[in-house]
Amino acid sequence: MELSRRTLMKVGVVVGTAGVALNLFEGKAGAVVRKIPTKWDETVEVLIVGSGFAGLAAAAEAAVNGAKSVVILEKMPIYGGNSIINGGEYNAWDDKFHLRQKLNLGDDSADLHAQDTLKGGDFFGVPELVKILADGATPGLNWMIDEGGVQLREVVNRTGGHTAYRTHTCVAGVGRGYAEPLRKIAESRGAKIRLGMKVTWIWRKDVDSPVLGVEVETSKGMQNIRVARALVLASGGFSRDVAMRMIYNPSLGPGYSSTNHPGATGEMIRYAQAVGCEAIHMAFIQLYPYAEPETGMLDAPAVYPFRGPGFGIVYVNKAGKRFVNEMERRDVVSRAELATGMKPTYSIFNEEMIPHMGTKDEVEKGLAKGRFVKADTLAELAQKLGVPADALQETITKHNQYLKEGKDPEFNRAYTKAMIPLEQGPFYGIAQWPAVHHTMGGLRVNAKGQALDIWGNPIPRLYAAGEVTGGIHGDNRLGGNATADCVVFGRIAGTNAAKEKPLA
Ligand SMILES: Cc1cc2nc3c(=O)[nH]c(=O)nc-3n(C[C@H](O)[C@H](O)[C@H](O)COP(=O)(O)OP(=O)(O)OC[C@H]3O[C@@H](n4cnc5c(N)ncnc54)[C@H](O)[C@@H]3O)c2cc1C
Repeated sequence: MELSRRTLMKVGVVVGTAGVALNLFEGKAGAVVRKIPTKWDETVEVLIVGSGFAGLAAAAEAAVNGAKSVVILEKMPIYGGNSIINGGEYNAWDDKFHLRQKLNLGDDSADLHAQDTLKGGDFFGVPELVKILADGATPGLNWMIDEGGVQLREVVNRTGGHTAYRTHTCVAGVGRGYAEPLRKIAESRGAKIRLGMKVTWIWRKDVDSPVLGVEVETSKGMQNIRVARALVLASGGFSRDVAMRMIYNPSLGPGYSSTNHPGATGEMIRYAQAVGCEAIHMAFIQLYPYAEPETGMLDAPAVYPFRGPGFGIVYVNKAGKRFVNEMERRDVVSRAELATGMKPTYSIFNEEMIPHMGTKDEVEKGLAKGRFVKADTLAELAQKLGVPADALQETITKHNQYLKEGKDPEFNRAYTKAMIPLEQGPFYGIAQWPAVHHTMGGLRVNAKGQALDIWGNPIPRLYAAGEVTGGIHGDNRLGGNATADCVVFGRIAGTNAAKEKPLA
């Protein structure tokens, strides 16, 4: 059957009057007929699904923009999703302390951030949304500092695919350093987080009706919660949903591990599609090139190879040779790693670089866990990593020479004066390999954070923000852009959701 708007409206009207909910999967194998509740367990003005950066930012803003009740539903036993375990990186062209200028790291602007983001995603990103991200990133960061007490390290990085030093790191060096402040802002404004509440359906009567509420699985049984103003989807990506990622990219099967928390599954995208939402860019799934090779874990040490390129880190394969321009985007580095055919690859750095990439304490802990390897000489490091010593020595000598001359004839790396040559030990190495990390695709939204249907019209009273959405990062997200994306669009979605006129 051809799926036209008229057909859908007809279906909607018929099933709507019969009290049956809109379900575009209806009639498909396994689809169930769902009846809109005649009685609701509760009414909430702004209801948010997901307690990561996007959900917390949305809750914080909804609570001061007119919503009397703001509730976040979180299916996991702890709050925070991928956000709380993230690497602590946040891209913004400026911050209230003007750290980049203070550290003499060159120029930047919101426009340049937007240009890099569009180019880094091969121009698949929606320019209007990318501009909002780049313009909103600095105010979003300053807001978290002022209202939530976020603390930044006195360092700004230039990471893969960026043409400026704009990647900020919180003192904690992990996403908790933003998630906790966001949670505090949201809760101090009256928002509530409920854990162990898994949303299992979105209620909408027909293709012209607003979203009415959600069905929730709780430890006490099923509940139906009605929304009086709006529903905000902030349920994150689907990197851990192997079946779903294989629908869009069959190569990303169970052979790939993932950096994500176990709750990063895509059911909310499915439910949103079933009530008419459009999902875009679903095949754009990112590999993180620097994950722990066996488990796919992205722990504190696994962020060093990401932070290192702007300060002179070098990537080598098992033969001790460089295989890619270290300033490249994640998709390029990941593909180059896979193409070596020799698992794993390694990042090489020295003691002098550590304060630019992290802390001595993190490195000590990483060494104790066997994640980092340390040696006084390159020959010793090569022996500990199991790569040929002569080859590694030759690679690093050549790299140092290129750095001095400002020209890389092998991989065309762009050098900056902030980069440190690998001349002085002690030297460090860490193994790295790609793991499924970020799903750039998701629900299509407009500049107000409204979720759009397949004709591009806003679905009344439905908003979305964060990794559950698609269209911002194109086919490749630049590292550090997701935290800013969640904060910026979470704030927009929460503000606009709260401004919807409440239903009686
Ligand atoms: C290890 C790691 C490190 C990263 N480091 C960085 C970094 O340094 N900088 C950067 O910019 N990006 C980074 N990213 C990406 C970034 O952290 C994520 O894109 C971002 O945190 C997503 O936030 P979110 O609020 O959209 O979703 P999440 O933080 O994932 O939150 C979504 C929440 O929704 C819940 N949920 C899902 N479905 C349901 C349901 N049916 N019912 C109820 N609840 C549901 C989930 O359990 C989850 O808690 C990293 C990602 C990972 C995994």
